[in-house]
Amino acid sequence: MSPRNGRQVVLGGGGFLGSHLCDQLLARGDEVVAVDDFSTGRRANVAHLDGHQGFTLVEADISKGIPVDGEITGVFNLASPASPPDYLARALETLAVGSEGTRHGLELALAHGARFLMASTSEVYGDPEVHPQAESYWGRVNPIGPRSVYDEAKRFSEALTMAHRRTLGTNTTIVRIFNTYGPRLRPDDGRVVSNFLLQAMRHEPLTVYGDGSQTRSLCYVEDEVGGLIALFDSDLEGPVNIGNPDEYTVKELAENIIDLLGSSSSIEYRPLPTDDPTRRRPDITRARAELGWEPTTPLRVGLERTAAFLAQDAGL
Ligand code: UDP
Repeated sequence: MSPRNGRQVVLGGGGFLGSHLCDQLLARGDEVVAVDDFSTGRRANVAHLDGHQGFTLVEADISKGIPVDGEITGVFNLASPASPPDYLARALETLAVGSEGTRHGLELALAHGARFLMASTSEVYGDPEVHPQAESYWGRVNPIGPRSVYDEAKRFSEALTMAHRRTLGTNTTIVRIFNTYGPRLRPDDGRVVSNFLLQAMRHEPLTVYGDGSQTRSLCYVEDEVGGLIALFDSDLEGPVNIGNPDEYTVKELAENIIDLLGSSSSIEYRPLPTDDPTRRRPDITRARAELGWEPTTPLRVGLERTAAFLAQDAGL
C-alpha cells in the first residue's frame, strides 16, 4: 500500500499508456476514474475493466472540461495524441488539450487537494545538442515546425504546471516520458515499433525513414508506468526522465525485428519527417537515485509481447 492510495483520475485513461496506468493503479488497490474522448484512445483498451467495482469511465474531451467530482487523491494527465501521425492530423486539438486540457486538470487537482502528475515528453528536448538528455537540458525545439503542435503543447503544459505550483501551491510533478512501446499500441498508430512489427509479420518491407541512423531508446510500457507511479508516490516536483537508456539506431531496430520474427522482409527507405530528432536517450540518474526506479524488461521480451498483441489485434 502507498500513502497516496485513493481515488485517481486518469486523463487519457483509454489510451495506450493511460490504460496500462489504470491497470496498475487498480492492481495496487486504487479506485480509478478514466477520462477519455476516444479520439486516439480505444474503448477496447479498457473493455476488460467493465464491471470492475473500482473503475469508472467518463467520456469527455478535457480541453472543454472534466466532469468528475467526489473525493480525488491524484490527477494523472496523459490526455493527448502522442504518435506523430496522430498529432499532425490533430494539430489544433493537440494544442488545445495541452493548454486548456492541462489547465482543467490542474484546477481539478487544486480544488480537491490532489496531487497532479503531468505526463510530458522527451520531445521537449527537440533535436538535442546534449546527449544523453538530462532534466537540466532546456532543449532545441523548432517552435513553428509541424511537430511544434506537440512539443510546444507539452512545453506549455510544463510551464503551466510549474506556474500553478508556484502561485497557487498546487501539488504537482512532471514526468518526461521517452519512447514507450508495448501491447495496446494501435496497429495504425504509426510509431516505429508497431509499424515495424506489423510489416515484419506480413513479410512486407520495413519502412525506415531517412537513412535509419537516427537513434531512439525504447522503454517497455509496464516499466514506464511503474516509473510514473513511483514519481506520483514521491514528493518530487520533477521533471524526472522516465525511459530506458538502451539506445538503438532505427536501422538496428528494423534488423532486430526482422531477425526476432524470422521475417523475410527487406528494408525500404522513405523520406525523413521534418524535424525528426537525430538522437534520443534518457539520462535516468535522477530516477535511479531519487525513486529507486529503472527499467527491467529486455527489448526482445518486450517486442515479443507486443508482437503477440498486434498479431491478435490485427487478425494476423
Ligand atoms: N520511423 C521509421 N519508420 C516508421 C516509423 C518511424 O523509420 O515506420 C522513425 C521515425 O522517423 C523516428 C523513429 O522511427 O526517427 C521513432 O519514430 P516514432 O514515430 O515511433 O516516435 P518519435 O520518437 O518520432 O516520436
